[in-house]
Amino acid sequence: MAVERTFSILKPDATERNLTGAINAMIEKAGLRIVAQKRVRITKEQAEQFYSVHKARPFFGELVEFMISAPVVVQVLEGEGAIAKYRDVMGATDPSKAADGTIRKTHAKSIGENSVHGSDSPENAAIEISQFFSGNEIVG
Ligand code: ATP
Ligand code: MG
Repeated sequence: MAVERTFSILKPDATERNLTGAINAMIEKAGLRIVAQKRVRITKEQAEQFYSVHKARPFFGELVEFMISAPVVVQVLEGEGAIAKYRDVMGATDPSKAADGTIRKTHAKSIGENSVHGSDSPENAAIEISQFFSGNEIVG
């Protein structure tokens, strides 16, 4: 399997509860390398753009307000099959349906405040990484 990069966000419910270190430990234990990372407050425009695929959904407004409610940590993760691997480590969107040992099962508060984002395809990973990082900020 090829070495890939994926884009990750540690969401406001995670930064607010001081869980960035605990979640990073789970990421690294799974064999993913954090090759770029910064703590930022995203703007409303960035949040709307980032989740624009969901703009017709009833939870869109709530999702955008949540994403700007506190700082987030944006990351680039690298490893063999990193995109699918990180989705496995994250667990299902709804933490009550997530498998034991996953980040969302262990830490998420609800289906909305679910601690982490991970890209769902190579195309989206490339787009999302370029929205938050320039090439020289990623050090493998
Ligand atoms: P993400 O894109 O954040 O990695 P995901 O791919 O598991 O999560 P999506 O279906 O893309 O899930 O939903 C994007 C985000 O929207 C979810 O992570 C969650 O924060 C929020 N969300 C999804 N479904 C609901 C819902 N029914 N109610 C409230 N918020 C929701
Ligand atoms: Mg998604």
